[in-house]
Amino acid sequence: MHSDWLIGIDLGGTKTEVILLDRHSKEHFRKRVITPAGDYRATLETIGLLVRETEAQVGVTGLPVGVGIPGSVSGITGRVKNGNSTWLNGQPMQDDLCRLLQRSVTLTNDANCLALSEATDGAGKDYGMVFAVILGTGCGAGISVNDRVLSGPNGVAGEWGHNPLAWTSQSELAARPCFCGRHGCNETFLSGTGLSLTYQRLTGQQLPALDIASNARNGDPDAAEVMAHYLEHLARGLAAVINVLDPDVIVLGGGMSNVKQLYEGLPEKLPQYVFGGECQTPVVRAEHGDSSGVRGAAWLGRPLRWPAF
Ligand SMILES: [Zn+2]
Repeated sequence: MHSDWLIGIDLGGTKTEVILLDRHSKEHFRKRVITPAGDYRATLETIGLLVRETEAQVGVTGLPVGVGIPGSVSGITGRVKNGNSTWLNGQPMQDDLCRLLQRSVTLTNDANCLALSEATDGAGKDYGMVFAVILGTGCGAGISVNDRVLSGPNGVAGEWGHNPLAWTSQSELAARPCFCGRHGCNETFLSGTGLSLTYQRLTGQQLPALDIASNARNGDPDAAEVMAHYLEHLARGLAAVINVLDPDVIVLGGGMSNVKQLYEGLPEKLPQYVFGGECQTPVVRAEHGDSSGVRGAAWLGRPLRWPAF
């Protein structure tokens, strides 16, 4: 019975969610609590309590646990790095959770969880290599190959959000400082925050990203111009990925993934930047929406012998 259940935890900056999945992808329990932001020990304890409460639902212990975190796990030191939830950075979180829960625990970046979730039983399930992007407040990405997360020896595979936007002038890049200390990162153009910045520079006004997209659809000329720029930027960012990885599918998640114009515009724009001038890579919207993070975390513990969906 044990091996038929998986526990996933999505640790966010404000909320922490747990899910219990069975091998057929059916959800049996889910709960969301406030993340004790700023307090590492309390964060570990919160995860411990959620795992125990979940196991109590089915009367078993020792289930596989996967955890998605807003950061990456260094392949060199095993410690958390690059997280905007800075109280996790530098902590040996995987080791601490293994000790606390008395079992092996798999920890990975939340964008990797999106990739794994969509590759396993979502919009990428019919494809071998899935490049999944979170276009939200920030911009992150993850890679799944044959339903396994590709993380790499440094633990940074997919961290494309902090490459400079390709085919973009030095002056445009320099005008976009990023929290990471560099300038012109993909995140500064492609996140919802980046879109709002483009709009503010054109109009002098602040507007949430999704409002800009809907105003553009309703015929507002400024919003339409800004969305045209955004589409151009996104095509550059994704074409640079295609030129390196050539994934079988690109899955978009996060708030901006709900913007229909992206799926209409990208097929025409991508070939302008992909080497050779042709591109038929499908770009699709994540199927599991906000649940992708927690579902992907659960799939981290999926035994190899389980058949694919
Ligand atoms: Zn950056």
